Amino acid sequence: MSFKDFGLSEELLRAIADQDYREPTSVQQLAIPVVLEGHDMLVSAQTGTGKTAGFTLPMLHCLSTRPKTRTPYSVRALILTPTRELAVQVEESVRTYGKFLPLKSTIVFGGVNINSQMKILRGGVDILVATPGRLLDLVSQRAADLSKVEILILDEADRMLDMGFINDIRKIISHLPKTRQNLLFCATFSDEIKRLADGFLKSPKLIEAARRNTTAAGISQTIYPVDNRRKSELLSFLIASKNWKQVLVFTRTKHGANRLSQQLCDDGISATAIHGNKTQAARTKALADFKKGAVRVLVATDIAARGLDIEQLPHVVNFELPTVAEDYVHRIGRTGRAGNEGEAFSLVCIDEHELLKKIEHLLKCSLTKVVLPGYEPDPSIKAQPIPNGRNFQRRGGGGGNQSRSRPSSNNRSSYNKRPRGNFR
Ligand code: AMP
Repeated sequence: MSFKDFGLSEELLRAIADQDYREPTSVQQLAIPVVLEGHDMLVSAQTGTGKTAGFTLPMLHCLSTRPKTRTPYSVRALILTPTRELAVQVEESVRTYGKFLPLKSTIVFGGVNINSQMKILRGGVDILVATPGRLLDLVSQRAADLSKVEILILDEADRMLDMGFINDIRKIISHLPKTRQNLLFCATFSDEIKRLADGFLKSPKLIEAARRNTTAAGISQTIYPVDNRRKSELLSFLIASKNWKQVLVFTRTKHGANRLSQQLCDDGISATAIHGNKTQAARTKALADFKKGAVRVLVATDIAARGLDIEQLPHVVNFELPTVAEDYVHRIGRTGRAGNEGEAFSLVCIDEHELLKKIEHLLKCSLTKVVLPGYEPDPSIKAQPIPNGRNFQRRGGGGGNQSRSRPSSNNRSSYNKRPRGNFR
């Protein structure tokens, strides 16, 4: 099947050819015709499947072939995303695929000055990519008029629900006209998503692009059992001995992300952290530095990492297992993208054995465990309960819920002296 078969406009086909996409991905094959026919749609597809083009291409086609109705402050297509990073990426896709079309798009999110966003919206836009909170601010200040929205797209809707955006979403929907097309994308179908979908989708076509809670083929997954206090030392050792050049590392908390990135830097490994407490400018810079190879390690929390599209990311490390098993699937989905091989490693201490069991139950398989010589867990350490996400953050946990003994400064490069090789 080729992109030509969809009947997309010449301008879109040229933009696709510029991207060197040979054929539509499976989610695109399923979703594009449905959107072009004007149906509502509920899609389960994870990042990396090509879902963004799956809704952006037909949306651009529809907007460019219908009579223009842009008026001051108006918005024709509204794309809501949970995070600023995802919003930036989606808007980049809109610009990339729409570069030969006379459509105007913009992006709004919190944490940056609202005035410049208001200025752009004054003339009306064809496509607005927004995070919910800032959009509501703009609507309440009458800087955005949503009464003419033709297409509403909720990207990563499950994450929006996780992040507590449900009321914001309801409020936004109350400003939209009754007649419109609705597209809802989520990583996995859940009962909550189905309830949300029932509330505002009209006879939606259901598309399940990625099978529920399955990890992509092509990703090798390894568990390293290790004591909590030795995790950062082991991570430095792995990065140095395996000579990883670009690795995304997950921690459970913002505090833990900061601390780990500092510890890696102390060990002579360039690292930076990305999470919601950082300014937008700092997050953008961290991601850009990581993408261009200026830093080897990006340490991220689940929320900050959602939707990050980093091409050919070879390694993902779970410094701590997520407390929600499904997040494991999202995390390791950052590697092995678009048919590339990827490696996912998890450093698992005794406190996390229950979490590991839940993940293996979800995946319906047992993951390979490798005990590295020199890092064998101390059998005398007893498991401590892991507080749930919120409490954990308040207590400043994130790898810090147990005392951690770092090597002293004159011994910080101790990973160099650890045994090498023999990892598998
Ligand atoms: P997404 O799932 O939307 O985050 O897309 C993941 C990556 O796949 C992006 O880097 C896209 O540029 C790329 N992509 C999207 N569609 C195709 C395609 N048909 N062929 C090859 N790559 C694609």
